[in-house]
Amino acid sequence: MATITTSINQADSLNTFSLIATHSHITGLGLDDHLQPRESSQGMVGQLKARKAAGIILKMVQEGKIAGRAVLIAGPPSTGKTAIAMGMSQSLGSEVPFTAISASEIYSLELSKTEALTQAFRKSIGVKIKEETDLIEGEVVEIQIDRSLTGGHKQGKITMKTTDMETIYELGSKMIESLTKEKVMAGDIVSIDRSSGKITKLGRSYTRARDYDAMGPDVKFVQCPEGELQKRTEVVHTVSLHEIDVINSRSQGFLALFSGDTGEIGPDVRDQINIKVAEWKEEGKAEIVPGVLFIDEVHMLDIECFSFINRALEDEFAPIVIMATNRGISRTRGTNYKSPHGLPMDLLDRAIIITTSNYNLNEIKQILSIRAQEEEVTLQADALNLLTKIGSETSLRYASNLISVCNQVALKRKSETVEIQDVKRSYKLFLDSERSIQYLEEFSEQYIN
Ligand code: ATP
Repeated sequence: MATITTSINQADSLNTFSLIATHSHITGLGLDDHLQPRESSQGMVGQLKARKAAGIILKMVQEGKIAGRAVLIAGPPSTGKTAIAMGMSQSLGSEVPFTAISASEIYSLELSKTEALTQAFRKSIGVKIKEETDLIEGEVVEIQIDRSLTGGHKQGKITMKTTDMETIYELGSKMIESLTKEKVMAGDIVSIDRSSGKITKLGRSYTRARDYDAMGPDVKFVQCPEGELQKRTEVVHTVSLHEIDVINSRSQGFLALFSGDTGEIGPDVRDQINIKVAEWKEEGKAEIVPGVLFIDEVHMLDIECFSFINRALEDEFAPIVIMATNRGISRTRGTNYKSPHGLPMDLLDRAIIITTSNYNLNEIKQILSIRAQEEEVTLQADALNLLTKIGSETSLRYASNLISVCNQVALKRKSETVEIQDVKRSYKLFLDSERSIQYLEEFSEQYIN
């Protein structure tokens, strides 16, 4: 019996895309087979202890051994906390959901903060549903399509890897129509009706946004080996609890997922779904896959959110919650008391804490060099040395941001290579936070205070 696996991607918020740009050089945690960190691998440099600890957690998540646990990554600004979380997300298998949010998003959405958190939690729980279906006769293919096609453009080059090119060529135009109508996007897994070319969406893969970009403008079809084309097929969909919630609470069903308009979901819908999913689990029809919810800048949450998290971690379906903060002893929002990292003691007590520390000169240099490569900027040795010095005296993030500025400055004088003069000029043009403070102190009377 053929098994078709479909799954749904969670890395779909705008925020995630911006995180991916900043951390796009990171493709994993850079560990060897024994979970030992390599000094520099998969875009990751140094921070060995933290990466090793993250690797152990990752392993437990992958083996489905833990759920409902909290991990706190704490350390000074720009020490790779988010980078480590992104490295974990890259290493998780395609069936383990990973959701990344920044704590402040909870307040900026048009949802109550507990609803926003509930949705984030439920996006991080995968439900692997097994069903036997009668697929209409025809090939079952996996399709990966460039995002431009989802904007409604009907044109696109189709590249197909298949044993039955003729049928697919014949169906090509109908398929594109159907792709557009069904809003099929990169990473969607679909089945195709051989006679009409109609495409039915089964779900989404966990392919990272980064991979979509790498795909180029082609549509790729990968056909199942011929022997597997049978009428009765076992289909395994991995969807998230949140997606099941949305599909069941909106009249437009699946499409609500694409419009992003999920709104508030009533507790009765969720209760019913929990009961249903528990039943499926009992009957062996579904498996729960606890994923990872990453909350960056977690100190931005308030006491109500923290108590919500405390309670949600005890839920039957709970993901691993990884939080990151750069705060020391600070006030917990919504209270008048101070606590380590601004987190209430009860949540802190439940969390395992990973710490990151400042980088040495060599590590800063390596990270800047990787970032320059990622941004396709050529730095002369002297220029890299000066940027490294700037990075150590200001912050890694500031120095890293200067790379693209330096490139522009170099291009302006028609040079393809960034030289030391370009770094000096960029450093003068753009203030780091320290110099910005000095400037404000000097000219304070000109500002509204
Ligand atoms: P903050 O507390 O200010 O949010 P952070 O600790 O989350 O900071 P990151 O955003 O992860 O810091 O790091 C800043 C930049 O440096 C990012 O572009 C990140 O990808 C890169 N970076 C940080 N640490 C490493 C590392 N160990 N290896 C490779 N790149 C790194």
